[in-house]
Amino acid sequence: MNVPFLDLRAAYLELKGELDEAVLRVLDSGWYILGREVEAFEEEYAAYVGAGHCVGVANGLDALILALRAMGIGPGQEVIVPSNTYIATWLAVSYVGATPVPVEPDEKTYTLDPSRIEAALTERTRAILPVHLYGLPADMDPILEIARKHRLWVLEDGAQSQGARYKGERIGHHGDAVAWSFYPGKNLGALGDAGAVTTDNPELAERIRVLRNYGSRVKYVNEVQGVNSRLDPIHAAALRVKLKYLDLWNARRQQIAGYYLEALEGTGLTLPYPPEWAEHVWHIFAVLHPERDLLQQHLQQQGIGTLIHYPIPPHLQAAYRELGYGEGAFPISERIHRQELSLPMGPHLTQEQAERVVEAVRNFALSARGAGFR
Ligand SMILES: *Cc1c(COP(=O)(O)O)cnc(C)c1O
Repeated sequence: MNVPFLDLRAAYLELKGELDEAVLRVLDSGWYILGREVEAFEEEYAAYVGAGHCVGVANGLDALILALRAMGIGPGQEVIVPSNTYIATWLAVSYVGATPVPVEPDEKTYTLDPSRIEAALTERTRAILPVHLYGLPADMDPILEIARKHRLWVLEDGAQSQGARYKGERIGHHGDAVAWSFYPGKNLGALGDAGAVTTDNPELAERIRVLRNYGSRVKYVNEVQGVNSRLDPIHAAALRVKLKYLDLWNARRQQIAGYYLEALEGTGLTLPYPPEWAEHVWHIFAVLHPERDLLQQHLQQQGIGTLIHYPIPPHLQAAYRELGYGEGAFPISERIHRQELSLPMGPHLTQEQAERVVEAVRNFALSARGAGFR
């Protein structure tokens, strides 16, 4: 039995009837940019996350960029970002001309460590950009407190956390705005690239609405230098279908995660550590192992697909040579990147497949290469 890392086709097949109907409805409508489907999704997603407003955009990176632009963040300014995240978080800050200032994560949760933020603030800092990494909310209360004290914006990167809760409330409205990606592999995924920003701030929402559509409210009247970054109605229609199943699909992920957490105890892996105040939605089931590459090879040989999130931290990427960070600049992140392995996880992984994964990890732990780490 092969176990794929993630089975996107199975996700389509489960909802095929409804998804086909939704896509055909858009084709049949004769309306292909913004319009009713996009507005309906925006309303439904805002209600789902408990935010006042949702603005659909073309992808998650644009959601971050447009939110930063709407906050007026630009050249000469700094934004606090996690040192371990997907590079998109940093790229958005650079794209608006500001400088990403990395802060190390908590060693157990891998999300931004609030106790390290204040030391990184300067008179140029304008915002804090926490990431709800792997589907686990960052510790928002202390982050919001620091932001209030220093009068900073808080933009959350929610790309991996659709449906997750922080202290009982869904991610989507804790900070000033939340940027979402609906890339097909995310917990709520479109049929291609898609994204959104949610916020309780009507002015931010309106600015993003104008920016995403050529800086225009009225056709051919351009108030600001905007971009073309609109959520496509076909994706909006598909997302409306999938949103109805998000809680159910997240519950399936949680069930598998619960099984992994119990069954992988004592195998030498460092397992995820969700704090009791968070509801994790397990976008990724991340484990650490000192012999990560050997473990990955071993699983590969047994037909088990895994991925590494992520192999190179942003500060060591060639793209960020200009910031001058060397090896050792962010040791906690570097260790996570060296040791992290993402086990198969998704709403269509069966219990039988999860048992295969556990069995393969167990026999790695018993093998000569894995021994010594138990
Ligand atoms: C996926 C992702 C993004 C970018 O989203 P795209 O839709 O691919 O542009 C940003 N941040 C994080 C943490 C992500 O996982």
